[in-house]
Amino acid sequence: MNPSEQTLPDHADVVVVGGGFAGAATACFLARRGVSDILVLEAADQFGSAASGLNASMFRQVATDPVTGALLRASVDRIRNGCWDDPVDVRWNGSLLLVEGERGRPALAAAQAAASAGFDCRIVGRDEATARVPILASAHFDHAIWTPGDGVADISALLWRYLREAKRRGARLVTGCPVAAVEVESGRVAAVRTPLGRTTCRLLVDAAGAWAEEIGALAGLGPLPLTPFRRHLVVTPPQAWVDPKWPLTWHLTDDWYFRPEVGGLMLSPCDQTPWFAGPTPRDPTVLESLAEKLAARCPPLANLPIQSWWAGLRTLTADGRFAIGPDPRLPGFFWVAGLGGHGMTGSAAVGDLAATLLTGGTVDPGLARAVDPGRFLAG
Ligand SMILES: Cc1cc2nc3c(=O)[nH]c(=O)nc-3n(C[C@H](O)[C@H](O)[C@H](O)COP(=O)(O)OP(=O)(O)OC[C@H]3O[C@@H](n4cnc5c(N)ncnc54)[C@H](O)[C@@H]3O)c2cc1C
Repeated sequence: MNPSEQTLPDHADVVVVGGGFAGAATACFLARRGVSDILVLEAADQFGSAASGLNASMFRQVATDPVTGALLRASVDRIRNGCWDDPVDVRWNGSLLLVEGERGRPALAAAQAAASAGFDCRIVGRDEATARVPILASAHFDHAIWTPGDGVADISALLWRYLREAKRRGARLVTGCPVAAVEVESGRVAAVRTPLGRTTCRLLVDAAGAWAEEIGALAGLGPLPLTPFRRHLVVTPPQAWVDPKWPLTWHLTDDWYFRPEVGGLMLSPCDQTPWFAGPTPRDPTVLESLAEKLAARCPPLANLPIQSWWAGLRTLTADGRFAIGPDPRLPGFFWVAGLGGHGMTGSAAVGDLAATLLTGGTVDPGLARAVDPGRFLAG
């Protein structure tokens, strides 16, 4: 629909600000819990045009933070086995997480803990890793974590699973509609104002990704703290030597990754430049640093031809863990933010957790505390 033809309802029980994975999954799981009066407002002309449409599409389930790792595994299990009757399109090629030296210890410990809890991953040596991805023969690493159940998703299809289901269950989805003001009355969230009109609401879900703090500021809230970081992705043209069945391969201690992409490779130098909520122009010096890094650490991957490249924003909290929960300073304001580099993978668990908390359902108190945005506001 042409944005100019869209109108907003006078009232919605829940207004979700942002139509990326955070907002879409929260709306979907809220609707599953019987909340039908949901309004999802997306500033851009399309859903998923920010981080949720610019990411590397990788399901990676071993993370050093135990809370994040558990949420990622719960999420992928849900997406793979039962979120929908019709499976989402994912290439379950597995992952190899490479580590070297002392700095690799936390990741190895996280993998061991996950395996002890029954998750299918194991630590392998160079021989097995190189047998799976022969180009690693010249790479520098000591061990790898092999996770057969990791993979690469069709991110647009996954995002639209959440959005379509939310819509089918009664949610209203509106694009081209930036929230420009948040009204507070009697000490709680009362309404949002947009170029398309004003909508009163009982609850506001701030799922605005890199812009989440801006939405908080519109409601008079101080910083959370959330920091957007710019990261680049590079895609090569098809290469005869690339096997599309290779797992995604991430050197955790060197900070680079690659995975098969339409006959070629997608690579990232894992750059992490503090940025602002807004456009992410490409920085050519990042290509030089990627080439230098790979020339030293995995020469066959250095200086490959480039077909396309872009940058997006990963928005992290101060401790790197998601911020999901009510703002203790303002009743009616709920954060689903700081999804960092895991927002697509974690989407089903994030949406389910947010919806459960929003509807007063039962959540493990330890989990609720661990992701509570209030942890940054104590004192
Ligand atoms: C280069 C890169 C690679 C990544 N790779 C992976 C990966 O392989 N696997 C993985 O799981 N994750 C990955 N991520 C992380 C993942 O993309 C994010 O965690 C996730 O997309 C965050 O979703 P979000 O909904 O919080 O934010 P966004 O997708 O940024 O959505 C926020 C939305 O809010 C909207 N908005 C902003 N202001 C307003 C307003 N005033 N009113 C209404 N709407 C507004 C924006 O337009 C935007 O669409 C990667 C990220 C990047 C940048």
